[in-house]
Amino acid sequence: MSEPGALISAVTVFCGSSDVVDARYFVAAAELGEKMAKRGWRLVYGGGRVGLMGALSRSVLEHGGHVTGVIPRALLDLGVGETKVSELVVTDGLRDRKAIMDERGDAFVALPGGIGTLEEVLEALTLKQLGYHRKAIAVLDLDGFFDPLWTQFQQGVDAGFIKPEFLDLWYPARDVDALLRYLDAYVPHAYGPKWTDRRPDRIPD
Ligand code: AMP
Repeated sequence: MSEPGALISAVTVFCGSSDVVDARYFVAAAELGEKMAKRGWRLVYGGGRVGLMGALSRSVLEHGGHVTGVIPRALLDLGVGETKVSELVVTDGLRDRKAIMDERGDAFVALPGGIGTLEEVLEALTLKQLGYHRKAIAVLDLDGFFDPLWTQFQQGVDAGFIKPEFLDLWYPARDVDALLRYLDAYVPHAYGPKWTDRRPDRIPD
């Protein structure tokens, strides 16, 4: 069995690309960047220079860390990409971009964000639920930002769509230090199959 936290050398971070959000979100992104760099954890992210993405990437670099940006050609051509990174991977589209981001990170983190961020973290959760990976997934639940998603999952459990054990596929952390503590202590484990507890009367012949 590996030591907790020892598995992590690169973290894939999903986060918002909007520039018009409250300053506290930028502060948290910069704090995460600084603390990742100080731990020697490389950042893998979507390669944007805007919003929290840019703040995070710049903070990692300012503190001597390593940043891999993975960005589709079309977004780079739009001028929203960050070219001042340690390594820039330019992909044909969004799907191959995500595959590379998934592969390169030893853990997933989501900071507050919009539709893109939600889609990315939900895909990481879906893949984990199906057993494609066992990596840690932590979200920064700053001031309860992700609480509505948690409520949605609870509703899925109550209605029988989600197995209760899947509620711990992710960890909503109240601050950056709690998020890092979770990643440090994380020990991968297998989940049971998604489709147990089938009611015999509902299974078609
Ligand atoms: P959103 O939460 O809708 O702002 O989208 C953020 C997520 O979508 C990021 O984690 C990126 O992977 C991707 N994304 C959105 N905008 C950009 C951008 N300008 N450059 C690179 N990736 C982006």
